[in-house]
Amino acid sequence: MKTLEVSKCPVCDELVEITNVRAGLEVECPDCGEVLRVVSIQPLKLYYAFDPDEEPLPEEEHRLPESG
Ligand SMILES: [Zn+2]
Repeated sequence: MKTLEVSKCPVCDELVEITNVRAGLEVECPDCGEVLRVVSIQPLKLYYAFDPDEEPLPEEEHRLPESG
């Protein structure tokens, strides 16, 4: 049986529809396109699938300004 739930996107506060919700399920916010993960079912909670604190994006190498 198909179930449909809605939860708020933590990024843009839009309601995101999720079918067959289960913990760990990844959904894409239709409004901002952020990939979100179901972190809690009761109550239903979404969080970034890619936690910026957990795995920081590789920063561009900062080059020291050439002197001389
Ligand atoms: Zn969003």
